[in-house]
Amino acid sequence: GVVVDKVATARVTGTALRRPLVLLKRRKRVLVTGGAGFVGSHLVDRLLERGDEVIVVDNFFTGRKENVVHHLGNPRFELIRHDVVEPILLEVDEIYHLACPASPVFYKHNPVKTIKTNVVGTLNMLGLAKRVNARFLLTSTSEVYGDPLQHPQKEEYWGNVNPVGVRSCYDEGKRTAETLTMDYHRGAGVEVRIARIFNTYGPRMSIDDGRVVSNFVAQVEGLVLLMESEHTGPFNLGNPGEFTMLELAEVVKKVVDPSAQVEFRENTADDPHKRKPDISKAKQLLGWEPKIPLIEGLPRMVEDFRQRVIGHSTGNDV
Ligand code: NAD
Ligand code: UDP
Repeated sequence: GVVVDKVATARVTGTALRRPLVLLKRRKRVLVTGGAGFVGSHLVDRLLERGDEVIVVDNFFTGRKENVVHHLGNPRFELIRHDVVEPILLEVDEIYHLACPASPVFYKHNPVKTIKTNVVGTLNMLGLAKRVNARFLLTSTSEVYGDPLQHPQKEEYWGNVNPVGVRSCYDEGKRTAETLTMDYHRGAGVEVRIARIFNTYGPRMSIDDGRVVSNFVAQVEGLVLLMESEHTGPFNLGNPGEFTMLELAEVVKKVVDPSAQVEFRENTADDPHKRKPDISKAKQLLGWEPKIPLIEGLPRMVEDFRQRVIGHSTGNDV
C-alpha cells in the first residue's frame, strides 16, 4: 500500500509541477476596442510585438483598417467589425477600452452616438470584464476637467464641465464611463485602470483630425505600464510642456512651410482656455513621462501626413 501511494504521489506532484509552467507560458489574450484608431493601432503594434494575442473590436467609425492591415497575416491577431454599443461574448484576460471618436470634428458629428458609445459601450465592456474576470483599462481624457479652474490639473481636481454644451456628449460621456468603471470595481470587484489622456499626436492620426498637437504617441507606453501596475488611477498621461496656440503655429510653420501665413479664427464653443497636466502621479507610481518634445515629434507626423496625402515621401530625413 505504501509503495503504491508513493508512486501515486510522485505522479500527482509531477503533474502539479508541470502545470504551472504551462500556465505561465500561456499567452495573454488582450482585447483592444477601438484598436483600428490612432492610439489603438499603436497599442496593438506594441502588444503584438511583445508576444500577446490581440483581438481588435472596431466599427471603423473614425478608425481605418489600414492602421492594422500589417498584422492581418499574424495568427496572434484578430480583427472584428463590431459596435461596442452591442453586447459581445469573448474570452480575454485584459481589455483596453478605447472605442470612442476622440476628435471634436467627429464626436460632434453624431453626439448621441458618441454618448451611447461612452455609456452603453463602456457598460458592455465592463460587463464582459466582469463575466470573464478580465482586467479593464479605460482611456478617459483631459476633457473630464472641462474648462479647468485649476492650473495645472491634478487627478484630484473634479473639473468644470458644461453638461449641456456641444462637447458634453464627449466630456460627460467620459465622466460617466469613469463612474461606471469605478462602480464595477467597487460593486463587482472588477480590476480596473483609468488613464486620462491629454492631446496626443503622431503618425496615423486622421488627416482631418483637427485637434491641437501636444504629446507624441508615447502615451501608449503609459497605458501598458498602467495596465500592468497595481494602481487603479486615474492617471494623467500627457505632456506638461506649455505653449500658446500662436507659439504652436510658429513651430508648425517652421516645420511644414516657413512661408505659410497664420490665420486667426473664432474659437469653437466650450473649448478649454488653458490646460496642462500635472503628471507627478504617473511619474512617481508608473515611472512614466513623455520623452519626445514637440520640435522632434512634429516632423515625424508631418512626414506621415505627407506620405498619405501625396502618396510618397518628401525624402526629408525625419
Ligand atoms: P480614434 O478616433 O483614432 O480611435 C477611436 C477608435 O474607436 C476608432 O478606430 C473608431 O472607429 C472606434 N470606435 C468609435 N466608436 C466605436 C464603437 N461604437 N464601436 C466600436 N469602435 C468604435 O481616436 P484616438 O485618438 O485613437 O483615441 C482613442 C481613445 O483615447 C479614445 O477613447 C479617446 O477618447 C482617448 N483619448 C485620446 C486622446 C488623443 O489625443 N488622441 C486624448 C484623450 C483621450
Ligand atoms: N455584456 C457583454 N458581454 C459579456 C457580458 C456582458 O457585452 O460577456 C454586456 C451585457 O449585455 C450587459 C452589460 O454588458 O448589457 C452589463 O453586463 P452585466 O452583467 O454587468 O449587467 P446585467 O446584464 O446584469 O445588466
